[in-house]
Amino acid sequence: MTKNVTLEGIVSLCKRRGFVFQSSEIYGGLAGFYDYGPLGVELVNNIKAEWWNAMVRENDNIFGLDSAIIQNPKLWEASGHVAGFTDPLVDCKNCGARHRADHLAGKDTNDIKELTKLLKDKVCPACGKKTLTPPRFYNMMMKTWVGPVEDSSSVAYLRPETAGPMFTNYENVRETMRAKLPFGIAQIGKTFRNEISPRDFIFRVRELEQMEMQYFIKPQAQKKSYEQWRKFAWEFLTNRLGIDESDLQWHEHDKDERAHYAAAAHDIYFRFPQGFKELWGTHDRTDFDLSNHSKASGKDLSYYDDETKERFTPFVIESSVGVGRILMAVLTAAYHVEEINGEKRVVLKLDPKLAPYKIAVSPLLKNKPELVAKAREVYELLKDNPSYSNGVMWDDNGNIGKRYRRQDEIGTPKCVTIDFQTMDDNTVTVRDRDTTKQKRVDIVNL
Ligand code: ATP
Repeated sequence: MTKNVTLEGIVSLCKRRGFVFQSSEIYGGLAGFYDYGPLGVELVNNIKAEWWNAMVRENDNIFGLDSAIIQNPKLWEASGHVAGFTDPLVDCKNCGARHRADHLAGKDTNDIKELTKLLKDKVCPACGKKTLTPPRFYNMMMKTWVGPVEDSSSVAYLRPETAGPMFTNYENVRETMRAKLPFGIAQIGKTFRNEISPRDFIFRVRELEQMEMQYFIKPQAQKKSYEQWRKFAWEFLTNRLGIDESDLQWHEHDKDERAHYAAAAHDIYFRFPQGFKELWGTHDRTDFDLSNHSKASGKDLSYYDDETKERFTPFVIESSVGVGRILMAVLTAAYHVEEINGEKRVVLKLDPKLAPYKIAVSPLLKNKPELVAKAREVYELLKDNPSYSNGVMWDDNGNIGKRYRRQDEIGTPKCVTIDFQTMDDNTVTVRDRDTTKQKRVDIVNL
């Protein structure tokens, strides 16, 4: 249970130990943009690999894709994003601050009438004055220009979701993989959203990475597939990332809350330090996307079913999650502050397969050449061992107590120490991150 974890605790750990840095920090940063440091990139890669295995490698009918970030802008017109990828906002006439109207109103809705009512007596959170404009919609897609001329004919968008190119590649993948319904296309990639108020660390950012899968189905399979992918998301979080069920909740979108393409949507909320918030969405997109792209491009995207001899436009169930939000959930779930022998320690109880390093190797004293040489030997031996998947760390900084604290904070499951006894009997001390218990193990049994 993640009840006592604070956002400050997570942010401080991420900075202190090299998981996440503010982007361009030396220039004061840029709101909504973050960089993953040496530990963060390892953890994120492990999370992405786990998702890719569960989604693509373990399913015969799901195929991977890695599409360009910039696509023909007609894609985003047909998908409805140019007209409808909007959030309601209010401006403050006094200080110029901009706020998400739904966040300020405390209700997840896009109904402008309802928001106007809810915001009637609200003051600007930045300056405290009652000078807010009525709510209005604002498009969150980031624009750029392709080619040397910056005019309306060269406008393009940084993709706001990875889904779009999966629809435009539907026919390419179906044909090349000789796929029959149901089948899915999955991809992991960067997306961009000009969020009005990025906040809560990496929870709401402007440059994010998503892991998404579009599952193409016969229309009559709509309900069954929807349930299948809801279950997948829940089981991935609990069984494969080790997140406790008590930290998760289902949230069904009502009509006002759903994205413009969705006929039904269920989010999994996670107990983040700032409360239960959206982590993973499963959406029933019906035939919205393929029908619209078919109409707009003039390319027939219908499917001919050999068995029933029918032709129809496939329906789509989408599974969509942000990598940064999963990272934050994994860190929150793993973060523990404990007292051991009167001393406070912060420990990340990460699932070993996610931990940036699986094992750390240290000489007890770094000024004893014979201990250092033996420790180096053990380090090289473990590096060659596939069970540690290249996650072996050499650590001879500070005293042994400090090393254990540091390894606890970055979630290294085991620490191996080479001491004087090792020189006599070839055994080492193996210390367990979670129990802090130590035992002697023969080097050959590592
Ligand atoms: P929210 O309601 O939080 O703005 P959304 O409903 O717009 O999210 P989707 O468009 O369904 O989100 O995107 C799928 C997933 O991508 C979300 O469940 C979340 O994990 C992630 N995500 C979306 N927007 C952001 C963002 N600005 N920063 C980080 N992750 C995001």
